[in-house]
Amino acid sequence: MKLIVGNWKMNGVRADIAQLEMLLQAPAPPRADLLVCPPLTLVLAFVEKALKSHVKIGAQDCHSEQVAGAYTGDVSAQMLMDAGITHVIVGHSERRAGHGETDALVRAKAEAAVMAGLLPILCVGETLAERQGGQTLAVLHRQVRDSMPGCADAGRLVIAYEPVWAIGTGLTPTLAEVAEAHHAIAESAGAGYRVLYGGSVKPDNAAALMAVPGVDGVLVGGASLKAVDFLAIANAA
Ligand code: PEP
Repeated sequence: MKLIVGNWKMNGVRADIAQLEMLLQAPAPPRADLLVCPPLTLVLAFVEKALKSHVKIGAQDCHSEQVAGAYTGDVSAQMLMDAGITHVIVGHSERRAGHGETDALVRAKAEAAVMAGLLPILCVGETLAERQGGQTLAVLHRQVRDSMPGCADAGRLVIAYEPVWAIGTGLTPTLAEVAEAHHAIAESAGAGYRVLYGGSVKPDNAAALMAVPGVDGVLVGGASLKAVDFLAIANAA
């Protein structure tokens, strides 16, 4: 089974619960597990709606501290687990760039998630300048080495290859470049880790991307906001 993850980012109000309802009403895709990561304001409503269904609910980030405490505005992995979610995205490039998240911080967040019993989806990926400078594989190797927690194992952590320049741009690497990056990540992480591809995945390119050796699913941003597109991607698996 491929894992198809929808990252809603900072999109969605209560009216958009209708999109989740459409996902739940559609037949379960035969070769895909579905995970939707809405904004925090919708997490509880989504968990309640998706209870006992084929759709799992995740979050987009968590704090790095494992214990509750004085961290205004933050949410711990334990609190997310308590809310009924199963996965949490950590190290998304929008957080690495927009919030100054380092590999060390991402690693602490992934560790907090694993310790709480959540599956972290750890994002790695090169910028355009890094790709143009021939640094892609070195960057991926460094990010995997420095942001994977020691407590991780293949059953408890998923990696997402997300070239920064492909996110929200409509651009994608060639299939050969995707294969090369996934191979490099698998070598750095160790055997058995599931590696997703993310970056401008749409209904019309999903089948080709998921047919690349080493691609175990996709992380979808913009095209996950409409159930019809998200389902088309899942059914392309
Ligand atoms: C993402 O948010 O991780 C992402 C891949 O976005 P998009 O699909 O819109 O490029």
